[in-house]
Amino acid sequence: MQVSCTQCGALVEVAADALLVECRFCSSALVVDGEGVLFREAMRPTVKTEDVPSHLRRFLAGDQTVSGLDREAKLGPPELIFFPFWAFTVGEGDEERTELMPAAPSSLQGLHGLRLPPGDTFPVSGQMQELAPVLEPEVPAATAREWLRQRTGPNLKVRRTVLYHLPLYRVSYSWRGRSYHVGVDAVSGRVFPADYPAKAEAPFVLVAVLAVLVFGAEGIIVSSLFAKIVLYLVSAVPLIGVAWLVSRKV
Ligand SMILES: [Zn+2]
Repeated sequence: MQVSCTQCGALVEVAADALLVECRFCSSALVVDGEGVLFREAMRPTVKTEDVPSHLRRFLAGDQTVSGLDREAKLGPPELIFFPFWAFTVGEGDEERTELMPAAPSSLQGLHGLRLPPGDTFPVSGQMQELAPVLEPEVPAATAREWLRQRTGPNLKVRRTVLYHLPLYRVSYSWRGRSYHVGVDAVSGRVFPADYPAKAEAPFVLVAVLAVLVFGAEGIIVSSLFAKIVLYLVSAVPLIGVAWLVSRKV
């Protein structure tokens, strides 16, 4: 079949089963999707391999993960890849934004609806492979657009679709005999966890229940308002102590 190049408009011959082609007139890298031919771009990595651990440690030290994880986790070597995203430019009137949807299956959280990070883009070329392995799209653009529609509503108007290859470091780390996986955006340094040892919620719920019971009992037993306030203040001290201990240990 013949398709027209999105950059120069020339007719390009494409084999029926081809997914990726290069325009022989302007050398643009193109991807053939169900509905036609789309432009491909890549973004240059700016986060250096040696800086990946510091980005990762910041996430490991955060509120979502068990305490001490940043000190105890043993990090594996970061592996750079180019991960494919469908970039949909959507909007009404003058308002425009670009939303990314993963074009390949991934267990990393937070890849849906990602914003395009500001950075240098360059046309896709064979030299990219020397920089890092390039993952090819497996999810059709139509499927990804349907995901986007489910997130943003049925009146979504897509003005432009581009396949973006964003550089991403894949890192695994081990903690207490188990291994976990994360992705680190090689442009923004943002961390996308697949799974992680999360803070357990049960101890916090117990502290809250204990506080409700103590304050509730005091409220029923003591009738004088002044005595109530004094009693609340006094019993708050050990409760805050317990909460503090729990937040340190968990
Ligand atoms: Zn062309």
